[in-house]
Amino acid sequence: MRPTDFTLAGAVAALAEGAISAEELTRAHVDATLSLNPKINALITVTAEQAMDAARASDARRARGEAGPLEGIPLAIKDLFCTEGVQTTAGSKILEGFVPPYESTVTSQLKRDGAVFLGKANLDEFAMGSSNLTSAYGGVLNPWSRRNDPDARLVPGGSSGGSAAAVAARMVLGATGTDTGGSIRQPAAFCGIAGIKPTYGRCSRFGIVAYASSLDQAGPFARTVEDCAILLRSMAGFDPKDSTSADRPVPDFAAACGRSVKGLRIGVPREYHIDGMPPEIERLWRQGLDWLRDAGAEIVDISLPHAQYALPTYYIVAPAEASSNLARYDGVRFGKRVTEAGSDLRDLYERTRAAGFGPEVRRRIMIGTYVLSAGYYDAYYLKAQKVRALIARDFREAWGKVDAILAPATPSAAFAEGENSDDPVQMYLNDVFTVTANLAGLPGLSVPAGLDPQGLPLGLQVLGRPFDEETVFAVGTTLERAADFKHLPGMRAGA
Ligand code: GLN
Repeated sequence: MRPTDFTLAGAVAALAEGAISAEELTRAHVDATLSLNPKINALITVTAEQAMDAARASDARRARGEAGPLEGIPLAIKDLFCTEGVQTTAGSKILEGFVPPYESTVTSQLKRDGAVFLGKANLDEFAMGSSNLTSAYGGVLNPWSRRNDPDARLVPGGSSGGSAAAVAARMVLGATGTDTGGSIRQPAAFCGIAGIKPTYGRCSRFGIVAYASSLDQAGPFARTVEDCAILLRSMAGFDPKDSTSADRPVPDFAAACGRSVKGLRIGVPREYHIDGMPPEIERLWRQGLDWLRDAGAEIVDISLPHAQYALPTYYIVAPAEASSNLARYDGVRFGKRVTEAGSDLRDLYERTRAAGFGPEVRRRIMIGTYVLSAGYYDAYYLKAQKVRALIARDFREAWGKVDAILAPATPSAAFAEGENSDDPVQMYLNDVFTVTANLAGLPGLSVPAGLDPQGLPLGLQVLGRPFDEETVFAVGTTLERAADFKHLPGMRAGA
């Protein structure tokens, strides 16, 4: 077995037994990264030397009996998390060359627990997108390919596409992502791996470049559900530096993996049967329900009457918050500055922002500014906030009848570069099954569960009550076991 074939849990065990050292494990992943990254562009910055130093330091800690729960585990970090001394771009030219003098809380906790960082993963600019194609550092190639069209360049999904592709290609054992409207669950589904967006407030947002603060949440990617549970335990926890982080104990999520779902009530939201849904997605969903029924769960039809408004609501709230958050990139405080001799401050702002932001970010800033403007605030932003409250209420009512909800993760498998790109609204439709969880603050897990007719992975999504990730993990591992998803992408370490 190659070191890149380990699951994260398997690597933790092998390191503990001394079957492999952190240095060997990291070397294998660094080699995989150096050979694959030029092809798939999953990482914007590769920190190979720092990783090898960190691996040796990890072996030394283990020798002293000080091994943490992620001791020696190679990870990729979405380039939206500030990492002390390592460039953090948010996928944007405006932050090119920005080297944070501090570490995000999530990454500092991963380091505290012994993880080794191999580099910063590519993403849609400021996490705005569903394809990774809005990155100022080039798109990411999905390591999977279509059976009948192997040359089509498939996207890994977005915005955390680099993180998902790096895990699927076996460059790393796990990665961090953030999910504002689906950016963990959609790329996980497109790349045939697992990924969870935890409850809003579960992980600290301190040191994560903000997109839409009331929706953003960090979470892990890995090749198994249990591996995600292990990572989440390290990432989660109260942080006085983020006033929206929840002061609650962090459970042992891995212990919930494999827990029986017997007697659990699983909701099937009627409104998620959308028009034009491909038959393979409907089939996978039904199959998922059968698997859970076979495992002793009870399937319950539910209604989320306002779910149909989730997408337009999201595409008002998210740009509104983004337009405000992105006002700080003014050429004065961070990153890029474009100015000319004799020009004034306003000119500095305009030149810097025109040169630094890509087209999708500019579109979002314009939409956000519009919906917040004096004349349109009531018609758009306030209305969207009201609908958001109704969407959250639908879920609260549903939790009286069910313990978890099963839905597809995405309305299709990975698409190719160029498909979906000429019409932004077409691209936004990708998020139809994911944005609801963010609007309501709920945990959502994507589990690889089957293949489409082209041999591409499809994901099922499990939603849970706020702060009940444990039930989500129990349902997720049940699906994972039943699906027995053993398919591998064509492009991966050792292939
Ligand atoms: N695709 C969605 C958007 O573009 C979600 C992105 C995200 O979750 N960061 O806003």
